[in-house]
Amino acid sequence: MKKVLVSGAGGFIGGHLVRRLKSEGYWVRGVDIKRHEFAVTAADEFIVGDLRETDVVRGIVEGISEVYQLAADMGGAGYIFSGEHDAAVMHNSATINLNMLEWGRQAGVRKFFYSSSACMYPEYNQLDPGNPNCSEESAYPAAPDSEYGWEKLFSERLYMAYMRNHGVQVRIARFHNIFGPEGTWCGGREKAPAATCRKVAEADDGGLIELWGDGKQTRSFLYIDECVDGVRRLMESDFTGPVNIGSDEMVTINQLAQMIAKVAGKRITIQHIPGPLGVRGRNSDNRLIREKLQWAPSRPLAEGLEKQYRWVEAQVKNAVAGLAAQ
Ligand code: NAD
Repeated sequence: MKKVLVSGAGGFIGGHLVRRLKSEGYWVRGVDIKRHEFAVTAADEFIVGDLRETDVVRGIVEGISEVYQLAADMGGAGYIFSGEHDAAVMHNSATINLNMLEWGRQAGVRKFFYSSSACMYPEYNQLDPGNPNCSEESAYPAAPDSEYGWEKLFSERLYMAYMRNHGVQVRIARFHNIFGPEGTWCGGREKAPAATCRKVAEADDGGLIELWGDGKQTRSFLYIDECVDGVRRLMESDFTGPVNIGSDEMVTINQLAQMIAKVAGKRITIQHIPGPLGVRGRNSDNRLIREKLQWAPSRPLAEGLEKQYRWVEAQVKNAVAGLAAQ
């Protein structure tokens, strides 16, 4: 049985990926600095360890043939764009990738999946909310708008360099806003879909929710099941990437909020407040993935939002019940 390692297995995408790999018959070792907050891990073995530590990484890559590297110091706009975490994000995530590659290849790992991000695309191509350019080859001249994006770009190059110089196989995906159940929904690291679901769940019918900026910035959001599908398809293909894994159903943040309100069956009023924003427009360009994998995500955003909302709503209710019981 093929033994694979999922690093970041205690996180949102990692937790779902472990479940998928188990259902496909793999033996899975999960590693994360913390246990999964919202689900019992499906991994055969789960190790709590800090991937910045050389000794931890040397121990966990033993006997592994493929690594899915998802661990990163990351969060939504409130975490990435405040500027307060820049040094930590760059240091922590780069150290994790340096360690995983070096000790992994020395231990005989043959193939690495690396989760990059659309945040590495240059800001100058994402100023027009109606017409952003995120085609893979538009990455250079590089000008990401966050240190998180710069680290992703550096690590993409690191994986490619190890492929060229050490003969390991590499697959790189650039994720575009992945959402769904069992991800961070409060506390400061949550991203727009989960945060907006929480605000709507907490609001009364006819109530007010706050959104950062004017809400006219555009994004696309990919439901977790299609993300995991894309990761597995890329890993099994002979294409290295980098390739976008994202939805090309672009919406404004105002539209996202109204779609969530519709799922909730509530009327809401949006109050726009200042806050960290990121680029003005972003959408996944799916031409390359279609060409190379003969596949691209296709499910409608509304379908995923229904599942995301029901899950966040249940978390909000549990939290309220917990507070009431204290
Ligand atoms: P997540 O924060 O839920 O998962 C990342 C995991 O890495 C966390 O569980 C965290 O504890 C772990 N981690 C951080 N530092 C660690 C350390 N020093 N040692 C061990 N584990 C450590 O995030 P996610 O949404 O599941 O994202 C997974 C990957 O995909 C990340 O690399 C992220 O940058 C990338 N990505 C995600 C999105 C998205 O929309 N979710 C978009 C683009 C890229």
